[in-house]
Amino acid sequence: MKIRTRIAPSPTGYMHVGTARTALFNYLFAKQNHGEFLLRIEDTDTERSKKEFETDIVNSLKWLGLNWDEELIRQSERVSIHKEYLAKLIENKKAFYCFHTIEELEEEQKNQALEKISFKHECEHKDLSLDKALEKLKKENAIIRLKTPHKKITFKDLIRGEVEFDTNLLGDISLAKNLDTPLYNLAVVVDDHETQITHVIRGEDHLPNTPKQILIQEALEFKQPEYAHLPLILSADRSKLSKRHGAVSVNEFARLGYLPKAMLNFMTLIGWHPKDDKEIFNLEELVKEFDLERVQKAGGIFNIEKLKSINNQYIKELVPAEIAKFIAPYLDMYNPTEAQLIKVAHLFKDRLNTFSEIKDLASFVFALPTYEIKLLSWKDAPKEKIKTNLQIVLSILENISEDSFDIDTTTTELMPKANNIGRGDLLWPLRVALSGMAKSPSPFEILDVLGKKESINRIKKALEKLNES
Ligand code: GLU
Repeated sequence: MKIRTRIAPSPTGYMHVGTARTALFNYLFAKQNHGEFLLRIEDTDTERSKKEFETDIVNSLKWLGLNWDEELIRQSERVSIHKEYLAKLIENKKAFYCFHTIEELEEEQKNQALEKISFKHECEHKDLSLDKALEKLKKENAIIRLKTPHKKITFKDLIRGEVEFDTNLLGDISLAKNLDTPLYNLAVVVDDHETQITHVIRGEDHLPNTPKQILIQEALEFKQPEYAHLPLILSADRSKLSKRHGAVSVNEFARLGYLPKAMLNFMTLIGWHPKDDKEIFNLEELVKEFDLERVQKAGGIFNIEKLKSINNQYIKELVPAEIAKFIAPYLDMYNPTEAQLIKVAHLFKDRLNTFSEIKDLASFVFALPTYEIKLLSWKDAPKEKIKTNLQIVLSILENISEDSFDIDTTTTELMPKANNIGRGDLLWPLRVALSGMAKSPSPFEILDVLGKKESINRIKKALEKLNES
């Protein structure tokens, strides 16, 4: 039997990293078993579903490289299939029309709340004959419910082990608002069956739906898929990960400049541990190493520092020309040349956790920030001393030809003087003159990136500032 899994997101928001991790685990499990991974958009809730979110889900999965097999399935396009099964359930007296109004149900819920019972509706309308119900339906609205049998349900969850439910707590489960408007539990069961899903791997928040879905499967005489409920993703303070903790949707991570490879690697490590301490895996290795049964039961912490460090490790593996392409959008406003981008990439690659960080790190290369004169002073050196030292540097640099103005030459030319006068005294004002910042890469690296002309300009500017003050 071919293993088939699916991700079934509702297009009611941008793709959350939790959904992406569920997709990833489904993908890994399917691929390691030479099976198939499907995408089903659960858009039966027409009020909340939006095309924009469907597009985002599709783009996010593509960006991550989690390609699905077969055509995308849209639940809303399968309503006629859901209808056939609903009709069958009614005909076989496994489902019935419930005529209670919303007000009546709310009243019932209120009363149960007073008795501290969680809401369930056991409906006496299940005893109406179908003829009578159809007659009544001409004048009144009704929803369709399953005649929930009273029993215990147990199933083996691949992560949580044996799980038991008492169906007495469920009441008669709602299946559809009418024959043409199926509800979530019915639609999921029918679609999973029709598309031959063998393993339902989803978030733990769906655990309460599982007994309901098993009852519907039993009523329709469907084979029960295997279940695996994944632990939730928690923030560092152990609350549920949400917007207030920062980026949560895949598109935000993409915009911040994370690499899809790093995201995949990181997401696998939320709630799952490899056998050894290895941390860096590519997708192929993950397909081999991943083991659903070793997913932990407890919530997995979303550790953003770990994501940054993994991303940094992947960035460091890229050559500067590749990095240049990724950082270009963040430096767009400076119209950098390709050569400048490559130099900047080379200079900062080890320091970058995300590509968007390049803007704060490297803007000074393209536009000298305004800085205070006193920043030029190393250990309270007087102005005259700074001027003299910058003049010395200037004349040494002016004597180097433009073609040989590289890191080696500037180092060889300036270092003997720096050792002689004092490194801080010579190199600090130079570095500040070039960067305008209290912290930056070394002056030799900056000279290299800026080139002779711009470097000389910036030193002259510092001297002017000193003269004017
Ligand atoms: N549509 C559901 C959701 O977005 C998933 C249903 C399932 O995986 O069974 O949470």
